[in-house]
Amino acid sequence: MVYLKTDDEVELLRKANLLVGDTLAELAKVIAPGVTTKQLDKIAYTFICDHGAVPTFLGFPNPYGEPFPASICTSVNHQVVHGIPNDTPLREGDIVSIDCGTKLNGYCGDSCYTFAVGEISEEILKLLTTTKESLYKAIEQAVVGHRLGDISNAVQTHCEAQGYGVVRQFVGHGIGKEMHEDPQIPNYGRRGNGMLLKNGLCIAIEPMITMGTKEIFMQEDRWGIVTRDKKPAAHFEHSICVRKDKADVLSSFEKIEKVLREKSL
Ligand code: MG
Ligand code: MG
Repeated sequence: MVYLKTDDEVELLRKANLLVGDTLAELAKVIAPGVTTKQLDKIAYTFICDHGAVPTFLGFPNPYGEPFPASICTSVNHQVVHGIPNDTPLREGDIVSIDCGTKLNGYCGDSCYTFAVGEISEEILKLLTTTKESLYKAIEQAVVGHRLGDISNAVQTHCEAQGYGVVRQFVGHGIGKEMHEDPQIPNYGRRGNGMLLKNGLCIAIEPMITMGTKEIFMQEDRWGIVTRDKKPAAHFEHSICVRKDKADVLSSFEKIEKVLREKSL
């Protein structure tokens, strides 16, 4: 069931989502060749708990009822989503998508950013840029009176124009007291189709875009999702609230990108 949030609830969602952004900014400071994703997970866990929140991913069950063993998903290169943090050091030229969720005062935050490790190729940089652009194009569509298909179509057309694959099996979602609420927000669809968007609808929009085929499969750990052709994938996610003329973006990349700018000086 879809339920619209009150203004007070939106502010609670904003707090949880800003904490996700702050957590990702902490990780941005340390992401470098040689760092392991397990080290990043430990930093995220401590940071979230120190701020009075719960890492919502930790213990979240997969379809087999097995709990996710970490506080963040770290998906490296051809991993699309749900990568389990491990002891393999990141290498120069890798990309790592870090998806993070918090629950603070009973409301959830959910946001994801794909980071470059050191210098990455022009080709992969373009994948990251295009995926992030598609997220903002989708957010532009998330206004009262539009339809869900307008959001989905914005992602699909922007990414497919570059020849990229749009993953079908995983989608964005409503967000509130639960991390995953109705409705589902696919990254593909037809303009003018689907649910009418109403004031107070809070959703996570999350394009998962591949450089080659859109076909994916699950790794043996029953969590990690990888591209069939082993080409890289990017994932950016914001939680937003539908408003009249312009969506209210509840999560933020501002601190993350400030850290990234300072690192590149
Ligand atoms: Mg997420
Ligand atoms: Mg999500």
